[in-house]
Amino acid sequence: MREINVKLITEKVRDLCIEANTVLEEDVLLAYERALETEESPIGKDHFRQLLENAKVAREEGIALCQDTGLAVVFVELGQEVHVAGGDLNEAIHEGVRQGYRQGYLRASSLDPLTRKNIGDNTPAMIHVEIVPGEKIKLAVAPKGFGSENMSRVVLFPPAVGIEGVKKFVVQRVEESGSNPCPPVVVGVGIGGTFEKAALIAKKSLLRPLGQRHPNPEIAKLEEEILDEINKLGIGPMGLGGRITALDVHVETFPTHIASIPVAVNIQCHCDRHKEAVL
Ligand code: SF4
Repeated sequence: MREINVKLITEKVRDLCIEANTVLEEDVLLAYERALETEESPIGKDHFRQLLENAKVAREEGIALCQDTGLAVVFVELGQEVHVAGGDLNEAIHEGVRQGYRQGYLRASSLDPLTRKNIGDNTPAMIHVEIVPGEKIKLAVAPKGFGSENMSRVVLFPPAVGIEGVKKFVVQRVEESGSNPCPPVVVGVGIGGTFEKAALIAKKSLLRPLGQRHPNPEIAKLEEEILDEINKLGIGPMGLGGRITALDVHVETFPTHIASIPVAVNIQCHCDRHKEAVL
């Protein structure tokens, strides 16, 4: 059994929080560049130039890509041959978020949902742990802005709605969201499972690189079809009109009950932040 000390986990989460908030992944920059070529609206084109410039400044100056530095969503793939030593795994992750948001001068947005009193250090992290084979720990930090999170939905449909009904729901959700989620968006879709499983697979699908299709050809085709429909809506970058309303659509599925088609739509804004590391 391999031993990994919690201190290492805290340090890595701290670094990932800062990096995710200041440095966009290459696939996101490439998606902006592709969109700059294909967007027809002059305002939309200008928006993509500004997004590229904003990403460059944030990376070079080490400052946040957006004022909304989000809630810290942390996915953990924990190898079953790993012994986490020296403390509590969850607390180690919270401490990493605490340090990352303080040291990176990132806005603390987490608060009590009822009193609305700010917790002050952007904890707790939203932690999702999956036990996997092996002796490694994979950490993915995805700061989630709430302009886009607020537009997300889970609905449990009767089976009769079929694939066409699911497609209609996803496209309609993006249409009704308008400019609120800071388009161009990335749309994570979870189909199946239970109420919470659908939401979780939708959120995790947002970690997939932009432009990478699902390995199942039927699901890949569904992603293309939904993306195509969304990009006919005319919402465009920041809702100012244009061709590119979504940079991509990622669909994940999971077996479900005979009586239902759960569908979750988790919308991500253009500030598509996530960083991963393996310990
Ligand atoms: S939704 Fe995204 S781009 Fe808009 S303010 Fe929040 S983090 Fe920033």
